[in-house]
Amino acid sequence: MNTIAPFSLDFDLITGMCKSGRAKPTQRFVSNMVSQFNDRAAAEAIVRGGDQLLYEFYELSQIPETAGDLKFGTSILYPGKVGDEYFMTKGHFHTILDTGEVYYTLSGRGAMLMETPEGETSLVEMTPGSAVYVPPRWAHRTINTGGEPMVSFFVFRSDAGHDYGTIEQKGYRKLVVERDGKPVMIDNPRWA
Ligand code: MN
Repeated sequence: MNTIAPFSLDFDLITGMCKSGRAKPTQRFVSNMVSQFNDRAAAEAIVRGGDQLLYEFYELSQIPETAGDLKFGTSILYPGKVGDEYFMTKGHFHTILDTGEVYYTLSGRGAMLMETPEGETSLVEMTPGSAVYVPPRWAHRTINTGGEPMVSFFVFRSDAGHDYGTIEQKGYRKLVVERDGKPVMIDNPRWA
């Protein structure tokens, strides 16, 4: 059986970064998510202009993907918009749908957009010092509605897995866009 010894890992409270270098960042750029944004022309213009980093996350690949283990790490979502839609993560269901997750906000400001396969939707504000509970069965995506990086710390069951494909194909039922300088949730006109 694959096991791991007890250990601790450093994460900066403001930047989210693992300065010791023991957890490595995975980065996602606008070019990785052009089809996920409503205004694809705006996304393509950003890519043509040299691309932009949307988010990165630090996670340990060494943690075994078994039901009893937990994966944890930080996510750093940068501020910005594609058209009037705020920078966001890809979003996913867990491959094992019945597994939840916790996100604790360290710095910045934003929201967690969630939906179930049956079409329930929820938008929960994320501010420093608050923890969002993502229940089993809810797809989840973080959205940066502020002007600085939004940093959160996450923990989930290690064998849960990530189903990105469903969201990539269908999109979310809702979008979060800026209207009169404020974030507003609207229906996604592209939802399939
Ligand atoms: Mn997750």
